Amino acid sequence: MILKNFINGQALDNGTGKTFDVINPATGELAYQVEEADESIRFAAIESSQLGFEIWSSMSGLERNRILLKAVSILRERNDELAKIEVIDTGKPFQEASVVDVVTGADSIEYFAALAVSIEGSQQDLGGDFYYTRREPLGICAGIGAWNYPLQIACWKAAPALASGNSMIFKPSEETPHGAVKLAEIFIEAGVPVGVFNVVHGAAEVGAWLTGHSDIAKVSFTGEVGTGKKVMAAAASNLKDVTMELGGKSPLIIFNDADLDDAVSAAMLANFYTQGEICTNGTRVFVQNEIYPKFIELLKQRTEKNIIAGDPMNPVTNFGALISENHKNLVLGYIEKGNQEGAFLLSGGKELSPEGVEAGFFVAPTIFTNCTDDMTIVKEEIFGPVMSVLTFDDEAEVIKRANDTEFGLAAGVFTQDIRRAHRVVHQMEAGICWINAYGASPSEMPVGGYKLSGIGRENGSSTINQYTQIKSVYVGMKPLESPF
Ligand code: NDP
Repeated sequence: MILKNFINGQALDNGTGKTFDVINPATGELAYQVEEADESIRFAAIESSQLGFEIWSSMSGLERNRILLKAVSILRERNDELAKIEVIDTGKPFQEASVVDVVTGADSIEYFAALAVSIEGSQQDLGGDFYYTRREPLGICAGIGAWNYPLQIACWKAAPALASGNSMIFKPSEETPHGAVKLAEIFIEAGVPVGVFNVVHGAAEVGAWLTGHSDIAKVSFTGEVGTGKKVMAAAASNLKDVTMELGGKSPLIIFNDADLDDAVSAAMLANFYTQGEICTNGTRVFVQNEIYPKFIELLKQRTEKNIIAGDPMNPVTNFGALISENHKNLVLGYIEKGNQEGAFLLSGGKELSPEGVEAGFFVAPTIFTNCTDDMTIVKEEIFGPVMSVLTFDDEAEVIKRANDTEFGLAAGVFTQDIRRAHRVVHQMEAGICWINAYGASPSEMPVGGYKLSGIGRENGSSTINQYTQIKSVYVGMKPLESPF
């Protein structure tokens, strides 16, 4: 198969015929090829998005709501077909993709479709004269996605952008471009006008073109901190609005009074779900001293017994392959560093070759104990299945250590003490906090980072404000006074 750029309601041939490969991470084999967005595609994308914006932004919120809800129904009808596409692109288990990726993408579009009807301005009397405000869309927005939740990220960016009346040019990661094209096709089928959601393919250079383009009003980016800084610098060229969803190294704090089974479940979810390739992962697991021996005993036992690595399409598999050979080597490099720097390897720490998918990019779920705050594995985002367990004595100490990072995406606290739970999360320098839970991200809840983990939020009603701008209109009702 050759996947093409999706412009103005259809797959569009590029002029150069230049393609790149997408590899199935579970098999190491070529999955399909993708046509790169060359000059002709880029020109067509901008032109089409401008026309799409004119039509879409002149429709009422209710009309946009009806069309977007149709797209939600189609996404849900095709759940399993779309989930399989995500499995081939990412290597994650079908068991996960079939209940999370498409579902949470559809939820976000449904949520913002509902908000589309309530976008409104205000009016104030000024003693005869008055003013009113209009909340207007920004224009053409660019969405740039990471490879871990490709379809979900495309939905999370398209949902508020389109609900607010913008058009969007979306660039998926070159490693996982299929889902975004499927979403574009579904939008057309649902009745979204052509040009409202276009998809361009390519690597950093195509992303850089989008972020520097003067006709683009906003960039919503998901990816690494380093790339985010480049995107923001390029966006500054014409003062584009930006939303930045970046990396993390989040703390998960487990107090002595925590429910032990729940705390172990959270640590496993926060490190091994999606093979550890989740931005909000709680990779620094702080365990209070008294509970520590029991905690690591249960953690090791459940990790070694319950995690099933294998062919991601097999419904019993709950642990898939990493995105690429490069990424696998990067993760193995961090494991090597952990060993060298004196952490104790409690479990995993090696490559895996599950039966039937021996050539896939699998790394075992890995647990390091005896970690210290200055170790590389404790400081840097690994984005793989590597958990660092640390111990602590008291609350004040753990708060200080948990915040001692340049990231600020998420944090989790496990305790039965309701006051302590809130007291601790109120002091976390993190945009997303969970109490006796980890990882849940419903559409109603804003998500985003403090510090280097990001700017702006996705999901939640406030996101509409980031895809609209206020126009104030002053209306003079009396003869105009003038000194001239
Ligand atoms: P990258 O930063 O490498 O890439 C993200 C996207 O940006 C890709 O589409 C990439 O293209 C593109 N890109 C690369 N260079 C540029 C550039 N100069 N200008 C514009 N676009 C560019 O991130 P990954 O794909 O490796 O994703 C993993 C990272 O994403 C982790 O740090 C993770 O924490 C973060 N993330 C954050 C989330 C959040 O919500 N906070 C959610 C999910 C992931 P290409 O890949 O095709 O080269």
